[in-house]
Amino acid sequence: MSAQAPPLKEALAALVATPSASSPQAGLDQPNRPVIDLLAGWLEGLGFACEVQDLAGQPGKANLVATLGEGPGGLVLAGHTDTVPAGAGRWRHDPLKLTEAEGRLYGLGTADMKGFFAVVLDAVRGLDPKRLRRPVVVVATADEETTMSGAKALAAAGRPLGRFAVIGEPTSLVPVHLHKGIMMELIHLTGRPGHSSDPSLGVSALDGMYRVMAELIAWREEMAGHHRDPRFKVPFPTLNLGHIRGGDNANRICAECELSIDLRLMPGMDVNATRTELEARVGRAVAGSGLIVRLHPLFDGVPALETDADSVLVKELETLTGHPAGSVTFGTEGPYLNRLGLETVILGPGDLAQAHQPDEYLALDRVGPMRDVLTRLIGRLCLKDGR
Ligand SMILES: [Zn+2]
Repeated sequence: MSAQAPPLKEALAALVATPSASSPQAGLDQPNRPVIDLLAGWLEGLGFACEVQDLAGQPGKANLVATLGEGPGGLVLAGHTDTVPAGAGRWRHDPLKLTEAEGRLYGLGTADMKGFFAVVLDAVRGLDPKRLRRPVVVVATADEETTMSGAKALAAAGRPLGRFAVIGEPTSLVPVHLHKGIMMELIHLTGRPGHSSDPSLGVSALDGMYRVMAELIAWREEMAGHHRDPRFKVPFPTLNLGHIRGGDNANRICAECELSIDLRLMPGMDVNATRTELEARVGRAVAGSGLIVRLHPLFDGVPALETDADSVLVKELETLTGHPAGSVTFGTEGPYLNRLGLETVILGPGDLAQAHQPDEYLALDRVGPMRDVLTRLIGRLCLKDGR
Protein backbone atom coordinates (compact mmCIF):
# COMPACT_ATOMS: atom_id res chain seq x y z
CA MET A 1 0.00 0.00 0.00
CA SER A 2 1.33 3.39 -0.99
CA ALA A 3 2.56 5.58 1.87
CA GLN A 4 4.28 8.92 2.23
CA ALA A 5 8.06 8.35 2.36
CA PRO A 6 9.19 9.96 5.62
CA PRO A 7 12.34 12.08 6.03
CA LEU A 8 15.62 10.17 6.08
CA LYS A 9 16.08 9.67 9.82
CA GLU A 10 12.45 8.70 10.30
CA ALA A 11 12.67 6.23 7.43
CA LEU A 12 15.82 4.71 8.87
CA ALA A 13 14.22 4.55 12.33
CA ALA A 14 11.28 2.61 10.88
CA LEU A 15 13.57 0.25 8.96
CA VAL A 16 15.74 -0.41 12.04
CA ALA A 17 12.63 -0.95 14.20
CA THR A 18 11.41 -3.63 11.81
CA PRO A 19 13.42 -6.72 12.70
CA SER A 20 14.71 -8.78 9.76
CA ALA A 21 17.61 -10.88 10.97
CA SER A 22 18.54 -13.86 8.87
CA SER A 23 20.35 -16.76 10.44
CA PRO A 24 21.08 -20.41 9.72
CA GLN A 25 19.73 -21.02 13.25
CA ALA A 26 15.97 -21.43 12.84
CA GLY A 27 15.26 -19.77 16.22
CA LEU A 28 17.05 -16.56 15.17
CA ASP A 29 15.81 -16.39 11.56
CA GLN A 30 13.14 -13.76 10.90
CA PRO A 31 11.03 -12.81 7.88
CA ASN A 32 12.19 -9.80 5.84
CA ARG A 33 8.77 -9.24 4.29
CA PRO A 34 7.83 -6.42 6.70
CA VAL A 35 10.90 -4.43 5.57
CA ILE A 36 10.06 -5.14 1.92
CA ASP A 37 6.50 -3.92 2.53
CA LEU A 38 7.74 -0.71 4.17
CA LEU A 39 10.06 0.05 1.24
CA ALA A 40 7.42 -0.89 -1.34
CA GLY A 41 4.85 1.39 0.31
CA TRP A 42 7.21 4.37 0.35
CA LEU A 43 8.51 3.79 -3.18
CA GLU A 44 4.98 3.43 -4.50
CA GLY A 45 4.22 6.76 -2.87
CA LEU A 46 7.15 8.20 -4.85
CA GLY A 47 5.71 6.88 -8.12
CA PHE A 48 7.66 3.63 -8.46
CA ALA A 49 6.00 0.51 -9.87
CA CYS A 50 6.65 -2.11 -7.19
CA GLU A 51 6.87 -5.83 -7.62
CA VAL A 52 7.25 -7.99 -4.52
CA GLN A 53 8.66 -11.42 -5.36
CA ASP A 54 8.11 -14.08 -2.70
CA LEU A 55 10.91 -16.63 -2.48
CA ALA A 56 9.71 -20.13 -3.25
CA GLY A 57 9.69 -22.40 -0.21
CA GLN A 58 10.70 -19.58 2.17
CA PRO A 59 7.60 -18.13 3.82
CA GLY A 60 8.06 -14.51 4.89
CA LYS A 61 11.08 -13.96 2.63
CA ALA A 62 10.79 -11.75 -0.42
CA ASN A 63 12.63 -9.48 -2.87
CA LEU A 64 11.42 -6.13 -4.13
CA VAL A 65 11.96 -4.68 -7.59
CA ALA A 66 10.71 -1.09 -7.75
CA THR A 67 10.96 0.81 -11.03
CA LEU A 68 10.57 4.47 -11.91
CA GLY A 69 10.55 5.23 -15.64
CA GLU A 70 10.57 2.87 -18.57
CA GLY A 71 12.82 1.08 -20.99
CA PRO A 72 16.04 -0.92 -20.81
CA GLY A 73 19.45 0.05 -19.47
CA GLY A 74 18.43 1.43 -16.09
CA LEU A 75 20.37 2.21 -12.94
CA VAL A 76 19.77 -0.31 -10.16
CA LEU A 77 20.26 0.75 -6.54
CA ALA A 78 20.43 -2.53 -4.68
CA GLY A 79 20.84 -3.92 -1.22
CA HIS A 80 19.81 -6.59 1.22
CA THR A 81 17.05 -6.04 3.75
CA ASP A 82 18.24 -8.63 6.25
CA THR A 83 20.66 -8.05 9.10
CA VAL A 84 22.66 -10.43 11.22
CA PRO A 85 21.04 -11.18 14.60
CA ALA A 86 21.80 -8.44 17.15
CA GLY A 87 23.58 -10.78 19.54
CA ALA A 88 22.58 -10.73 23.18
CA GLY A 89 23.35 -8.08 25.70
CA ARG A 90 26.45 -6.31 24.42
CA TRP A 91 24.73 -3.23 22.98
CA ARG A 92 24.79 0.10 24.84
CA HIS A 93 21.86 1.21 22.68
CA ASP A 94 18.69 -0.68 21.83
CA PRO A 95 19.57 -2.38 18.51
CA LEU A 96 16.03 -1.92 17.19
CA LYS A 97 15.70 1.74 18.13
CA LEU A 98 17.54 4.31 16.04
CA THR A 99 19.57 6.41 18.49
CA GLU A 100 21.38 9.59 17.52
CA ALA A 101 24.47 10.30 19.61
CA GLU A 102 28.04 11.50 19.02
CA GLY A 103 27.22 12.40 15.41
CA ARG A 104 26.20 8.83 14.73
CA LEU A 105 23.01 6.94 14.06
CA TYR A 106 23.12 3.76 16.13
CA GLY A 107 21.01 0.71 15.39
CA LEU A 108 21.11 -2.79 13.93
CA GLY A 109 21.55 -2.56 10.16
CA THR A 110 22.41 1.16 10.05
CA ALA A 111 25.75 0.43 8.32
CA ASP A 112 24.91 -2.99 6.87
CA MET A 113 22.72 -1.87 5.19
CA LYS A 114 19.36 -0.34 5.95
CA GLY A 115 21.04 3.07 6.08
CA PHE A 116 21.68 2.82 2.35
CA PHE A 117 17.97 2.38 1.63
CA ALA A 118 17.13 5.46 3.71
CA VAL A 119 19.63 7.47 1.65
CA VAL A 120 18.28 6.00 -1.61
CA LEU A 121 14.75 7.06 -0.66
CA ASP A 122 16.01 10.57 -0.12
CA ALA A 123 17.91 10.60 -3.43
CA VAL A 124 14.92 9.47 -5.51
CA ARG A 125 12.36 11.65 -3.74
CA GLY A 126 10.72 13.99 -6.22
CA LEU A 127 12.25 12.41 -9.33
CA ASP A 128 9.96 13.06 -12.27
CA PRO A 129 9.67 9.95 -14.48
CA LYS A 130 9.05 12.22 -17.49
CA ARG A 131 12.60 13.55 -17.10
CA LEU A 132 14.18 10.08 -17.15
CA ARG A 133 15.86 8.68 -20.22
CA ARG A 134 16.67 5.49 -18.31
CA PRO A 135 14.72 3.96 -15.42
CA VAL A 136 15.85 4.08 -11.81
CA VAL A 137 15.29 0.70 -10.16
CA VAL A 138 15.48 -0.05 -6.45
CA VAL A 139 16.16 -3.72 -5.71
CA ALA A 140 15.89 -5.06 -2.16
CA THR A 141 16.75 -8.67 -1.40
CA ALA A 142 16.35 -11.31 1.31
CA ASP A 143 18.87 -13.48 3.14
CA GLU A 144 22.15 -11.98 1.95
CA GLU A 145 23.74 -12.71 5.32
CA THR A 146 23.03 -16.44 5.07
CA THR A 147 22.33 -18.13 1.73
CA MET A 148 21.99 -15.18 -0.69
CA SER A 149 18.77 -16.89 -1.76
CA GLY A 150 17.24 -13.53 -2.70
CA ALA A 151 20.00 -12.59 -5.14
CA LYS A 152 20.14 -16.15 -6.45
CA ALA A 153 16.40 -16.06 -7.17
CA LEU A 154 16.88 -12.84 -9.17
CA ALA A 155 19.76 -14.43 -11.12
CA ALA A 156 17.77 -17.62 -11.72
CA ALA A 157 14.74 -15.67 -12.96
CA GLY A 158 17.05 -14.17 -15.54
CA ARG A 159 15.01 -11.03 -16.07
CA PRO A 160 17.21 -8.09 -16.97
CA LEU A 161 17.06 -5.42 -14.27
CA GLY A 162 19.08 -2.72 -15.98
CA ARG A 163 22.59 -1.89 -17.10
CA PHE A 164 24.25 -0.48 -13.99
CA ALA A 165 24.01 -1.49 -10.34
CA VAL A 166 25.23 0.11 -7.13
CA ILE A 167 25.07 -2.16 -4.09
CA GLY A 168 25.24 -0.10 -0.92
CA GLU A 169 27.25 -2.47 1.27
CA PRO A 170 29.51 -0.68 3.75
CA THR A 171 32.59 0.49 1.83
CA SER A 172 33.15 3.87 3.53
CA LEU A 173 32.09 5.70 0.35
CA VAL A 174 34.84 4.06 -1.72
CA PRO A 175 33.78 2.30 -4.93
CA VAL A 176 34.60 -1.38 -5.14
CA HIS A 177 34.64 -3.44 -8.31
CA LEU A 178 36.50 -6.54 -7.12
CA HIS A 179 36.21 -9.16 -4.46
CA LYS A 180 37.29 -12.73 -4.09
CA GLY A 181 34.97 -15.71 -4.13
CA ILE A 182 34.40 -17.59 -0.88
CA MET A 183 33.98 -21.31 -0.26
CA MET A 184 33.85 -23.28 3.00
CA GLU A 185 33.98 -27.04 2.73
CA LEU A 186 33.94 -29.96 5.13
CA ILE A 187 36.04 -33.05 4.45
CA HIS A 188 35.02 -36.14 6.38
CA LEU A 189 37.02 -39.39 6.46
CA THR A 190 35.64 -42.61 7.85
CA GLY A 191 38.01 -45.45 8.66
CA ARG A 192 37.71 -48.39 11.06
CA PRO A 193 38.52 -48.43 14.79
CA GLY A 194 40.81 -51.01 16.29
CA HIS A 195 43.35 -51.55 19.05
CA SER A 196 46.31 -49.21 18.75
CA SER A 197 48.78 -52.05 19.26
CA ASP A 198 48.08 -53.53 15.82
CA PRO A 199 47.59 -51.23 12.80
CA SER A 200 46.16 -54.10 10.77
CA LEU A 201 43.08 -54.09 13.04
CA GLY A 202 41.77 -50.77 11.72
CA VAL A 203 42.00 -47.95 9.18
CA SER A 204 43.17 -44.63 10.62
CA ALA A 205 41.20 -41.58 9.56
CA LEU A 206 43.81 -39.34 11.22
CA ASP A 207 46.61 -40.85 9.14
CA GLY A 208 44.43 -40.27 6.09
CA MET A 209 43.72 -36.66 7.03
CA TYR A 210 47.45 -36.03 7.40
CA ARG A 211 47.83 -37.01 3.73
CA VAL A 212 44.83 -34.89 2.77
CA MET A 213 46.34 -31.88 4.54
CA ALA A 214 49.68 -32.35 2.77
CA GLU A 215 47.83 -32.47 -0.56
CA LEU A 216 45.82 -29.33 0.29
CA ILE A 217 48.94 -27.41 1.27
CA ALA A 218 50.62 -28.45 -2.01
CA TRP A 219 47.47 -27.36 -3.90
CA ARG A 220 47.49 -24.03 -2.08
CA GLU A 221 51.03 -23.38 -3.30
CA GLU A 222 50.12 -24.34 -6.87
CA MET A 223 47.09 -22.03 -6.82
CA ALA A 224 49.15 -19.16 -5.44
CA GLY A 225 51.56 -19.61 -8.34
CA HIS A 226 48.84 -19.80 -11.00
CA HIS A 227 46.40 -17.09 -9.95
CA ARG A 228 48.30 -13.94 -8.96
CA ASP A 229 46.40 -10.68 -9.05
CA PRO A 230 48.20 -7.61 -7.67
CA ARG A 231 44.94 -5.66 -7.39
CA PHE A 232 44.22 -7.50 -4.15
CA LYS A 233 45.93 -6.86 -0.81
CA VAL A 234 46.43 -10.63 -0.54
CA PRO A 235 47.24 -11.12 -4.24
CA PHE A 236 46.67 -14.88 -4.46
CA PRO A 237 43.94 -17.39 -3.57
CA THR A 238 44.01 -18.65 0.02
CA LEU A 239 43.18 -22.01 1.52
CA ASN A 240 42.87 -22.09 5.29
CA LEU A 241 42.81 -25.32 7.27
CA GLY A 242 40.43 -23.95 9.86
CA HIS A 243 39.10 -26.71 12.08
CA ILE A 244 39.88 -30.36 12.67
CA ARG A 245 38.27 -32.97 14.84
CA GLY A 246 38.98 -36.66 15.03
CA GLY A 247 39.62 -39.67 17.19
CA ASP A 248 38.86 -40.20 20.85
CA ASN A 249 41.67 -42.09 22.52
CA ALA A 250 45.42 -42.46 22.31
CA ASN A 251 45.13 -46.23 22.26
CA ARG A 252 42.39 -46.56 19.64
CA ILE A 253 42.85 -46.34 15.87
CA CYS A 254 41.01 -43.22 14.78
CA ALA A 255 37.80 -44.10 12.90
CA GLU A 256 36.48 -40.63 12.06
CA CYS A 257 38.17 -37.36 11.24
CA GLU A 258 36.81 -34.18 9.75
CA LEU A 259 38.44 -30.99 8.55
CA SER A 260 36.81 -27.67 7.63
CA ILE A 261 38.57 -25.44 5.16
CA ASP A 262 37.99 -21.95 3.78
CA LEU A 263 39.00 -21.01 0.24
CA ARG A 264 39.15 -17.48 -1.20
CA LEU A 265 39.06 -17.54 -4.98
CA MET A 266 40.41 -14.99 -7.42
CA PRO A 267 38.18 -13.65 -10.23
CA GLY A 268 38.20 -16.25 -12.98
CA MET A 269 38.20 -19.16 -10.52
CA ASP A 270 34.87 -20.97 -10.57
CA VAL A 271 33.26 -22.28 -7.36
CA ASN A 272 32.00 -25.53 -8.90
CA ALA A 273 35.22 -26.28 -10.77
CA THR A 274 37.21 -25.67 -7.57
CA ARG A 275 34.93 -28.03 -5.66
CA THR A 276 35.44 -30.73 -8.30
CA GLU A 277 39.20 -30.26 -8.06
CA LEU A 278 39.02 -30.51 -4.26
CA GLU A 279 37.16 -33.83 -4.52
CA ALA A 280 39.71 -35.19 -6.96
CA ARG A 281 42.65 -34.14 -4.77
CA VAL A 282 41.20 -35.55 -1.55
CA GLY A 283 40.30 -38.78 -3.34
CA ARG A 284 43.82 -39.07 -4.70
CA ALA A 285 45.41 -38.38 -1.29
CA VAL A 286 43.67 -41.32 0.37
CA ALA A 287 43.43 -43.66 -2.64
CA GLY A 288 43.96 -47.30 -1.67
CA SER A 289 43.69 -46.61 2.08
CA GLY A 290 40.23 -48.08 2.57
CA LEU A 291 38.97 -44.75 3.93
CA ILE A 292 35.54 -43.49 2.92
CA VAL A 293 35.56 -39.84 1.85
CA ARG A 294 32.61 -37.50 2.13
CA LEU A 295 32.80 -33.85 1.18
CA HIS A 296 30.16 -31.30 1.69
CA PRO A 297 29.98 -27.56 1.33
CA LEU A 298 29.37 -25.64 4.58
CA PHE A 299 27.52 -23.14 2.40
CA ASP A 300 26.94 -22.76 -1.32
CA GLY A 301 29.86 -20.43 -1.87
CA VAL A 302 30.00 -16.89 -3.22
CA PRO A 303 31.56 -16.27 -6.62
CA ALA A 304 34.24 -13.64 -7.06
CA LEU A 305 33.23 -10.20 -8.34
CA GLU A 306 35.02 -8.48 -11.17
CA THR A 307 33.46 -5.53 -12.92
CA ASP A 308 35.64 -4.11 -15.67
CA ALA A 309 37.73 -1.24 -14.30
CA ASP A 310 36.98 0.70 -17.51
CA SER A 311 33.21 0.28 -17.28
CA VAL A 312 31.10 3.43 -17.42
CA LEU A 313 29.81 2.99 -13.88
CA VAL A 314 33.25 2.44 -12.36
CA LYS A 315 34.56 5.57 -14.06
CA GLU A 316 31.53 7.66 -13.03
CA LEU A 317 31.80 6.59 -9.40
CA GLU A 318 35.55 7.16 -9.29
CA THR A 319 34.90 10.71 -10.45
CA LEU A 320 31.96 11.32 -8.11
CA THR A 321 33.67 9.94 -5.00
CA GLY A 322 37.22 11.03 -5.78
CA HIS A 323 38.50 7.52 -5.00
CA PRO A 324 39.91 4.91 -7.38
CA ALA A 325 37.86 1.70 -7.37
CA GLY A 326 39.35 -1.09 -5.30
CA SER A 327 38.64 -4.43 -3.71
CA VAL A 328 37.07 -5.66 -0.47
CA THR A 329 37.63 -8.77 1.60
CA PHE A 330 33.97 -9.78 1.88
CA GLY A 331 31.57 -11.40 -0.58
CA THR A 332 28.52 -9.62 -1.99
CA GLU A 333 25.48 -10.19 -4.19
CA GLY A 334 27.38 -8.43 -7.00
CA PRO A 335 28.34 -11.58 -8.93
CA TYR A 336 24.65 -12.56 -9.16
CA LEU A 337 23.70 -9.14 -10.51
CA ASN A 338 26.59 -9.27 -12.99
CA ARG A 339 25.13 -12.55 -14.28
CA LEU A 340 22.09 -10.52 -15.30
CA GLY A 341 24.31 -8.38 -17.48
CA LEU A 342 24.68 -5.53 -15.01
CA GLU A 343 27.88 -3.62 -14.35
CA THR A 344 27.97 -3.72 -10.58
CA VAL A 345 29.92 -1.51 -8.19
CA ILE A 346 29.76 -1.83 -4.42
CA LEU A 347 29.53 1.57 -2.74
CA GLY A 348 27.88 2.41 0.54
CA PRO A 349 28.01 4.96 3.36
CA GLY A 350 28.71 2.56 6.23
CA ASP A 351 32.03 1.18 7.45
CA LEU A 352 32.79 -2.51 7.47
CA ALA A 353 34.33 -2.07 10.93
CA GLN A 354 30.85 -1.35 12.33
CA ALA A 355 29.02 -4.12 10.48
CA HIS A 356 28.05 -7.22 12.45
CA GLN A 357 29.12 -5.46 15.68
CA PRO A 358 27.30 -4.37 18.81
CA ASP A 359 26.48 -0.64 18.65
CA GLU A 360 26.52 -0.70 14.85
CA TYR A 361 26.23 2.84 13.56
CA LEU A 362 26.22 5.04 10.51
CA ALA A 363 28.20 8.26 10.85
CA LEU A 364 25.94 11.22 10.10
CA ASP A 365 28.65 12.90 8.04
CA ARG A 366 28.44 10.04 5.52
CA VAL A 367 24.78 10.61 4.79
CA GLY A 368 24.97 13.85 2.81
CA PRO A 369 27.94 12.77 0.64
CA MET A 370 26.31 9.41 -0.16
CA ARG A 371 23.06 11.14 -1.13
CA ASP A 372 24.99 13.60 -3.32
CA VAL A 373 26.80 10.75 -5.09
CA LEU A 374 23.49 9.01 -5.81
CA THR A 375 21.75 12.20 -6.90
CA ARG A 376 24.57 13.11 -9.26
CA LEU A 377 24.85 9.55 -10.55
CA ILE A 378 21.12 9.48 -11.31
CA GLY A 379 21.55 12.83 -13.05
CA ARG A 380 24.44 11.65 -15.20
CA LEU A 381 23.11 8.22 -16.10
CA CYS A 382 19.34 8.58 -16.09
CA LEU A 383 18.14 12.15 -16.61
CA LYS A 384 17.44 13.45 -20.12
CA ASP A 385 19.14 16.74 -19.33
CA GLY A 386 21.71 15.20 -17.02
CA ARG A 387 24.85 15.60 -19.08
ZN1 LIG B 1 25.73 -6.47 4.04
